Amino acid sequence: MTLTAGGRSAQPSPDVPNAPDCQHCGTDQYLIVEEFTPLRLLPDGRRVPANASYSCSRCGSFSGHEVPDSWTPVGWFWYA
Ligand SMILES: [Zn+2]
Repeated sequence: MTLTAGGRSAQPSPDVPNAPDCQHCGTDQYLIVEEFTPLRLLPDGRRVPANASYSCSRCGSFSGHEVPDSWTPVGWFWYA
């Protein structure tokens, strides 16, 4: 699968990344999150967006991209 800049033009607000979702199944119900990196703020004030990679246990597709700041995987807990 190839993602191109033109293929993302349908997003309503390009500044906000999509939450993980299987584009084949149209749901996040079957997703298995492989990696998740929370939003980080660097000492110089720059933001490193949250990022997740995931696969779908239903159709087997795999994807990974930036995710909204507020998104965390199901069952994800902060150890503070
Ligand atoms: Zn799927």
